[in-house]
Amino acid sequence: MSSILVFCRGCSKQVASSQTRDGLCLDCQVRRSVADLRDEHARLWRKRERYHSQNANVEQIGRQIARVEDRMAQRIKALVPNDREAVDYLRRELEAARGQRYTIRGL
Ligand SMILES: [Zn+2]
Repeated sequence: MSSILVFCRGCSKQVASSQTRDGLCLDCQVRRSVADLRDEHARLWRKRERYHSQNANVEQIGRQIARVEDRMAQRIKALVPNDREAVDYLRRELEAARGQRYTIRGL
């Protein structure tokens, strides 16, 4: 299989053209496809922390968070055919979502 190297439009990384879509590498495709869900996840995560500190019932929020994670997993699976890679991507996106609450705290 011959493939030329191109620069990703999103992160400027050099990748095989066969692995790009719309000029984006797989990393950037995944990031973009779950961006809205990642924000939603971060929002729910903060909400749960707030409720938790008030000793409120956080069970329902926990279920909402699980649903958002499921939807993220589905979108990633649609882009990444390899199961193990898809799991890696999901883990990375979830870590990013959970880390996000620190960077946007105070809003
Ligand atoms: Zn990229």
